[in-house]
Amino acid sequence: MKARFLPEHFRFCPTCAAEAIIRFQDNGVRCEVCDFTLFFNPTSSAAAFIFDQDDKLLVVERAREPAKGKFGIPGGFVDFNEAAETALVREVREETNLVLDKFEFYGSFPNQYPYKNVIYPVLDLYFLGFVSDFSNLSLEESEISGHQFVDIRKVPLSQWAFEPLRTAVAKLTKERFGS
Ligand SMILES: [Zn+2]
Repeated sequence: MKARFLPEHFRFCPTCAAEAIIRFQDNGVRCEVCDFTLFFNPTSSAAAFIFDQDDKLLVVERAREPAKGKFGIPGGFVDFNEAAETALVREVREETNLVLDKFEFYGSFPNQYPYKNVIYPVLDLYFLGFVSDFSNLSLEESEISGHQFVDIRKVPLSQWAFEPLRTAVAKLTKERFGS
């Protein structure tokens, strides 16, 4: 089955089971029989750009689809009832065993994340993360197959895992290195 945007997977009403689901606006579905209504909004993710003392960026190589083998930055999805800042610190810790000394918000970038047959709308929240001690760096191998510290000016844009990451890296490269 071809991957489709999340609301397009609904055909039967989850409440009354009628085959009467219609799409409305961009992000809603409604049952024409019982008026069950459901809106879909972006999932949030939080991730960190972490540079070392030589201005090299810590990148992780994705061990799984989507974008297996491509470069990502440490981060992940925000849980229910969790602040983005908490998710950021937690995910960086889980994926790399690094502790962020501090961080600041960089920007938000809309993403579409395909998983199995469903394309999820995601709002990627990117932060600049600061780490003074990299000696604890160790990777969560189920998610990540390797890591590198890279000069972001030398990485082809196509090597980055997702479109919003390419956009953010291009912006960051210009701001940081003026090229
Ligand atoms: Zn219904």
